[in-house]
Amino acid sequence: MDTTGTVIKCKAAVAWEPGKPLSIEEVDVEPPRANEVRIKMIATGICRTDDHVIKGALKSIDFPVILGHEGAGIIESVGEGVTELKPGDKVIPLCIPQCGKCSSCLNPHTNCCLKTHLSESQNVMPDKTSRFSCKGKVVYHFLWTSTFSEYSVVPVDAVAKIHDNAPMDKACLFGCGFPTGYGAVVNTAKVEPGTTCAVFGLGGIGLSAIIGCKTAGAARIIAIDLNSKKFEKAKMFGATDCINPLDYTKPIHEVIVEMTEGGVHYSFECIGTIETMKAALESCHLGYGTSVIIGEAPSAELISFDPLLLFTGRTWKGSIFGGWKSKESVPRLIAEYMENKFNLDGLVSYTLPFDEINQGFHLLRSGMSIRTILMF
Ligand code: NAD
Ligand code: ZN
Repeated sequence: MDTTGTVIKCKAAVAWEPGKPLSIEEVDVEPPRANEVRIKMIATGICRTDDHVIKGALKSIDFPVILGHEGAGIIESVGEGVTELKPGDKVIPLCIPQCGKCSSCLNPHTNCCLKTHLSESQNVMPDKTSRFSCKGKVVYHFLWTSTFSEYSVVPVDAVAKIHDNAPMDKACLFGCGFPTGYGAVVNTAKVEPGTTCAVFGLGGIGLSAIIGCKTAGAARIIAIDLNSKKFEKAKMFGATDCINPLDYTKPIHEVIVEMTEGGVHYSFECIGTIETMKAALESCHLGYGTSVIIGEAPSAELISFDPLLLFTGRTWKGSIFGGWKSKESVPRLIAEYMENKFNLDGLVSYTLPFDEINQGFHLLRSGMSIRTILMF
């Protein structure tokens, strides 16, 4: 049945308010307007960022909202003016858009397009309205992706067309987790062969950072997590040393500085707390160390630190979506994956039907899952 131009009724997981489980509802999804497309989702992953919103830690998000930003799907219909995509194309919705026109997109040193939620709300489409409603109420978009819905409307600036044969259950990892961790290493830090790296936090982001360190030829990769059950996978992906802060009486950065005779070349914070951001900075060498923040701290939390930590020569950086200019890079990364450049099997812990989404969040919170993939 041709659904072009009609309102589609479909299943979605709605977050009605912070602190509540998601609720599977029938929602109305309007047709795409100018420069938008409607996507039929095939698979979606669960990331900690979605969980931060459910817990109410990211204040800029409007409720009710359909979360999800790691998806893979197929174009159902396109709005006016869309010529680059057509129904049937396999695509990845991009939580960091690439408009191609703003000062960031025109600058080769950043991927942080000015259309991201950090400068303009992505809770609504560019025309400031939502395409979702449920029980007569407006439901908001999240990061323009809202992949926890069978159908989602996304602006073309935030859609990447991928290979027709891409495996969708793995391709969705390229919507956030893998490019974020991997790119922080190869793009943001530009890790060199023979160096020592420390990765704080061994979820989907941290393990992807380890894959990056290994690919970049790091000689030593120190993996840090409070949950020692994560160490097996970290080693599988290339960690050479695994340490649990709970096994030491002294602060973990002191342990790392001792282990490395002065600190690592590169450290990556893949957790999202102020304490671990500082620990990661203090773990890198006072003169030549670089520390990269990838984790998202709760809104409105401020960090205080001794300026001497930077005075001596350390570099402190942040990385969003791994520094990749999203629209042009995601198709290339997926092509490389299909040529077996990366083995991501260990990143997927569980594959569940979409209806079991709350179980997926339970598996993440309990530390049992790296990524749970939900299939529609
Ligand atoms: P995750 O929850 O799966 O992994 C975090 C890991 O950190 C867990 O293994 C946990 O046991 C460990 N941990 C927690 N507290 C710790 C501590 N004090 N010391 C050591 N280990 C500790 O999360 P994820 O999906 O891998 O995401 C990691 C972070 O990255 C989140 O904050 C997420 O919001 C953020 N993120 C950032 C971007 C970006 O573009 N920069 C993109 C996606 C996610
Ligand atoms: Zn994410």
